[in-house]
Amino acid sequence: MRGSCLCGGVVFEVTPPLRDVVACHCTQCRKQSGHYWAATAVPHDRFRLVEKRGLAWFRASAQARRGFCRDCGAFLFWQPEGEARISIAAGALDGPTSLHIESHWFAEVAGDYYSPEGPPPAATQAETLHGSCLCGANRFSLPGPMGQVWSCHCTQCRKLSGHYAASFDAPEQALHWHARHVTEHRAAGGSTRGFCPDCGSSLYFRAADGSFSIEAGVIDNPTGGQLSQHIFVADKGDYYAIDDGLPQATGGG
Ligand SMILES: [Zn+2]
Ligand SMILES: [Zn+2]
Ligand SMILES: [Zn+2]
Repeated sequence: MRGSCLCGGVVFEVTPPLRDVVACHCTQCRKQSGHYWAATAVPHDRFRLVEKRGLAWFRASAQARRGFCRDCGAFLFWQPEGEARISIAAGALDGPTSLHIESHWFAEVAGDYYSPEGPPPAATQAETLHGSCLCGANRFSLPGPMGQVWSCHCTQCRKLSGHYAASFDAPEQALHWHARHVTEHRAAGGSTRGFCPDCGSSLYFRAADGSFSIEAGVIDNPTGGQLSQHIFVADKGDYYAIDDGLPQATGGG
């Protein structure tokens, strides 16, 4: 089975069987994916890099390193030190996977705008939102609350996040950058993704018409946000169900 980042700068092959998918809600995975991460895993001898010109690694802790594409920002791999296996973003896999989500890790530190399983909790209060990437090279604030959060299951969002995306609309001028170190990747259709080139955290999306949204997973404090809709569900992965009771649109909603 083959997988890749969005731009093709990283391409890999894995030989089944693949471990069932683990959804991880830890802060590190939430920042890099922009929502939360979902990964399968294989032993090293069943994993092969076909193209690695875009591959960059970020070490958030001594225990593991995190692989992403430096050209498009896709969050792809989690590699524990001293173990002969690699975790791979389920959203990066091409075609049917026949996998399913077997467990949720770090559900107790999931974002406040969604629940790991089931309907989202009631929205909190939030006057000012503070966001940052995993390495700290990007820090910004903007007026809260986050409000409505959209989950996008389109192929671009799935490749970049490693699972699917969640973002909220905000005027771009509302962001106050305390530190800014962003690479922008222009995708097919004229949209732009902003991510940190040092740690691979997903930061924002600017549509071809200039409308702007921020990845919900990079906000550090109570958000005042609530997941409200799923869009492009026709493109969703086969390894998860959308069962939170929220409205679903096959296209852009
Ligand atoms: Zn790429
Ligand atoms: Zn960073
Ligand atoms: Zn999308």
